[in-house]
Amino acid sequence: MALKPFKNEPLTDFSKPVNRKAMEQALARVKSMLGREYPLVIGGEEIHTPEKLKSYNPSRPSEVVGVFQKADAPLAHKAIETAAAKFEEWKFVDPKKRAEYLFKAAKIMRKRKHEFSAVMIYEVGKTWPEADADTAEAIDFLEFYGREMLRYAAKQPVTKIRGEKNELVYIPLGVGVIVPPWNFALAILTGMTSAAIVTGNTVVMKPSSDSPLTGWMFFDLMREVGLPDGVINFVTGSGGAVGDVLVAHPKTRFVSFTGSKEVGTHIYELAAKVQPGQKWLKRVVAEMGGKDSIIIDDQTDLEAAVQATVVSAFGFQGQKCSAASRALVVEKVYDQFLEKLKAKVEQIRVGPSDDPSNYMGPVINEGSLRKILGYIETGQREGGGLITGGGRADGEGYFIQPTVIADVDPKATIAQEEIFGPVLAVIKVKDFDHALEVANNTEFGLTGGIWTKNRKKIEKAKKLFHVGNFYINRKITGALVGVHPFGGFNMSGTDSKAGGRDYLLLFLQAKSISEKVK
Ligand code: NAP
Ligand code: MG
Repeated sequence: MALKPFKNEPLTDFSKPVNRKAMEQALARVKSMLGREYPLVIGGEEIHTPEKLKSYNPSRPSEVVGVFQKADAPLAHKAIETAAAKFEEWKFVDPKKRAEYLFKAAKIMRKRKHEFSAVMIYEVGKTWPEADADTAEAIDFLEFYGREMLRYAAKQPVTKIRGEKNELVYIPLGVGVIVPPWNFALAILTGMTSAAIVTGNTVVMKPSSDSPLTGWMFFDLMREVGLPDGVINFVTGSGGAVGDVLVAHPKTRFVSFTGSKEVGTHIYELAAKVQPGQKWLKRVVAEMGGKDSIIIDDQTDLEAAVQATVVSAFGFQGQKCSAASRALVVEKVYDQFLEKLKAKVEQIRVGPSDDPSNYMGPVINEGSLRKILGYIETGQREGGGLITGGGRADGEGYFIQPTVIADVDPKATIAQEEIFGPVLAVIKVKDFDHALEVANNTEFGLTGGIWTKNRKKIEKAKKLFHVGNFYINRKITGALVGVHPFGGFNMSGTDSKAGGRDYLLLFLQAKSISEKVK
């Protein structure tokens, strides 16, 4: 059967009773499974360790979502060695067959999508629509990278010369270490892992310690579709302890990382060191943090601009690398903007994410809660004025009120560091040019957007606003696979574009073959 062209997975409309019912059933089913224990799986062998790692529900931290194993250094070695042995076979499997595993997985994930979403609602505090979008993106990655592999496996154009038959083929790299974050617990883990294996590499996948069950769901799905043992090795444990061993291993060929700048730069450095017996320079793809701005010009529809700012800043509690954490507002409309913003933000309901009437759930964990509250204090100490929010919201979970701090200095801590929580810094700027200057004043360059009706300003910003994903008159979150290839500049990463046509190249190397003919 001919493959249909790639199309994004539609989002679920939860205003329809039938969809609400389906999600309620999925939540009930997943709830009855919470607290189970899951093994490490290396080369198909299920392994239990004496020390355990627990995953908790941030909406109700007393609720254990799952119990996982804590791998140690010898197990990390075993995982790399196993992946290295398996690579010798997997690399020769027909790319079409490798893509088939992804298409089969996408089909099952689509059928059971609410179950995958429900796991994230419990494990990372996603609301229904946020979890649904995460699962849809995971499905998109499987469908998109499967098709991309077929494109890279096809005959590649080379210049013809007489007397030779020439070809160029893409071959895999070797063993990859896959280190995803918890915030797109399913989508990013699925994207990085599926890209790595469909191109013929084998991997050790180490999910975030905040979202191991979501990682397990994907791993188990790949077992269900019959992916051979050892192609993906499932290893849980603390990033610091086990991550360093995986990254430093001489048989590791590449690391695919998405997470914070701190961990990303550490991995980059560690991977650069050539270990005894190592035969290559490791490739590191690191997608890191952001400090993303939305510019509000005076020539704009202020109502719509405020709405887009609220969605970009507070969706998933501001825990998106793409989240708006700075609004740069032209002074002419500054007061008006703040007034409208305050009114909208104060309508946001915060509470457990399994209750669909809440627009915001909890932040991921206690450490994150403390850190965010610390930033709110720092913001005020450094001269910012609290407009709304500012502290914890009621409930057992790690709930923080959606917070707006105004009159923030462009160089202040909360204007420069990634907060990764529901905190928006509002900065007053003289005019649009000043706004562009401030927009580029951080070390990051991930997403950013402008709200203006002025075509000249739009064209200027397209050239000057230095971010990997630039948005005009819309929200600055919600990049779609294939439509908005995603990834940032500067300290936001190594300039890769997930969900784009260049992405699989990061997992491949090209071999030129030239044969003399008569
Ligand atoms: P993180 O703290 O950097 O952790 C990311 C992953 O790295 C986790 O799996 C973590 O495992 C692991 N890790 C920690 N130390 C390690 C080490 N020494 N060696 C190997 N792995 C190690 O980030 P996060 O809190 O999960 O995610 C939030 C961050 O991700 C934000 O900065 C956000 O901007 C960024 N992000 C960027 C993008 C993008 O596309 N650019 C997308 C999403 C998120 P443990 O959990 O076990 O520590
Ligand atoms: Mg958790």
